Amino acid sequence: MSKPYDLIVIGAGSAGFNAARVADSLGKRVAIVDGAKKIAGLCILNGCMPSKTLLYSTEVLHLAQKGKTFGLRIPSAAVDMKALHARKKKIIGEFADYRDQALNSGKYDVYRNHARFIDPHTIELSDGRTLSADKFLIGTGSKISVPATVPGLTTTPFWTSDDVLDLDFVPESVIVLGGGIVACELAQFLRRIGSKVTLIQRSKNILKDHSPAASEVVQQAFRDEGVDLHTDTQITRVAGDAKGVTVKFTSSGKTITRRARYLFNALGREPNTASLNLADAGVKLTEAGRVRINRWQQTTAKHIYAGGDVCGPHDIVHLAVAQGELAARHAFGIKKLKPIDHRLLLNVVFTDPQLATIGLQERELFKQGAKFLVASYPFNDHGKSILMDANYGYVKVIAEPVRGRILGAEIVGPNAGDLIHIFSGPLAMKATVFDLLRAPWYHPTLAEIFTYPLEDLADQIKK
Ligand SMILES: Cc1cc2nc3c(=O)[nH]c(=O)nc-3n(C[C@H](O)[C@H](O)[C@H](O)COP(=O)(O)OP(=O)(O)OC[C@H]3O[C@@H](n4cnc5c(N)ncnc54)[C@H](O)[C@@H]3O)c2cc1C
Repeated sequence: MSKPYDLIVIGAGSAGFNAARVADSLGKRVAIVDGAKKIAGLCILNGCMPSKTLLYSTEVLHLAQKGKTFGLRIPSAAVDMKALHARKKKIIGEFADYRDQALNSGKYDVYRNHARFIDPHTIELSDGRTLSADKFLIGTGSKISVPATVPGLTTTPFWTSDDVLDLDFVPESVIVLGGGIVACELAQFLRRIGSKVTLIQRSKNILKDHSPAASEVVQQAFRDEGVDLHTDTQITRVAGDAKGVTVKFTSSGKTITRRARYLFNALGREPNTASLNLADAGVKLTEAGRVRINRWQQTTAKHIYAGGDVCGPHDIVHLAVAQGELAARHAFGIKKLKPIDHRLLLNVVFTDPQLATIGLQERELFKQGAKFLVASYPFNDHGKSILMDANYGYVKVIAEPVRGRILGAEIVGPNAGDLIHIFSGPLAMKATVFDLLRAPWYHPTLAEIFTYPLEDLADQIKK
């Protein structure tokens, strides 16, 4: 066995790669182990980047199809699936090559194998070699879950998000199981390319981690676009045959049956821990099956860190990156570190209208029994969004009632994923409503819509 590494990173995704990058910058000897055929991580290969590439195309398509609304004559805007697929492959290929160059820059020893722990300081690779290290970072991400509680799902052929992201034809009809972010984003993509889409969600609303009001705006937009949307359901049977799939479910006491050519299982993902033999390393899991971590990303074995989807608490790339970086800095004794501040949580759903939140939301503040003020303003009463014909949704700002410190914001509407960043800096810097009102707001922009709720909050505080 060779000399121990300072750090071995297992999984070269967003958390693992960034932990390795920081450790290298601190002069450490680093190995990266990843068993995938392509090693660029979920975000680049089958997550954020391909999905956002496709969603951007269908947003352009949707606008083109609405040409008449804008006084334009665009007779037959339609998707060209082969071209769409080729564009996505080209863009993702370039991102993946870029990551590949970084991995193979000579800074790291890269092992293209799966790994499992055989003791707290040693891993065994799938080709039988063993490696040891002083510190480890587990960044093995997540995999699609197939809940056994959905009768018939395990025996019915289904697509995952990987399959939907790789389509080069328009499927005539698809049933989407689930109402989370991936389900909603890709259901709208499928609908906009021309598929007949049925979405079946167990909870009362889609995007259930968001406020009911925000979810309802997205639901309305989906229904207006012709998605056959069912919420508050219980699936009783999923079955497949040569011609397609049938899903039986109950909703409001009625039994409903839907048939489609394809089934898309978007019921969620689960942490990738099973093959790691974590017990022999002294690494424990939470009840939800994630790797248990403390605020420095240390697992129950203090020299083994974890970052990204494998530990959570949220499957979001910028958090995976931040966790990987924090873990590496902590592992190698960098002083004056700060743990990740989850009060700044930033969340974006790239549906149209987009849904974005930052900071504390009303639901959490109610739970905490905290005092707060809220003000909101609708996009259908704002100049810029009206001229864009982007009338769904609203902005909402939440502030502390005495000094007016910003606590959080929620946007459902046009460009919400970008607009929410108006609050990133101010929240991190603990700014108040009055600080934000001193800032200039250009006219006519979507951003200036925030002057209305901010002024409303300022008035509420002055009273
Ligand atoms: C369709 C979709 C869209 C998404 N869109 C967004 C978005 O817009 N914004 C956002 O913030 N997030 C988005 N996400 C979530 C985001 O992609 C993930 O949170 C993030 O990529 C997780 O990074 P990670 O480093 O934890 O894991 P990954 O990037 O999944 O990396 C894990 C790596 O570990 C390797 N591995 C696993 N087991 C082993 C083993 N035993 N030995 C060796 N290697 C192993 C795997 O091969 C893999 O390369 C999306 C996810 C999906 C599925």
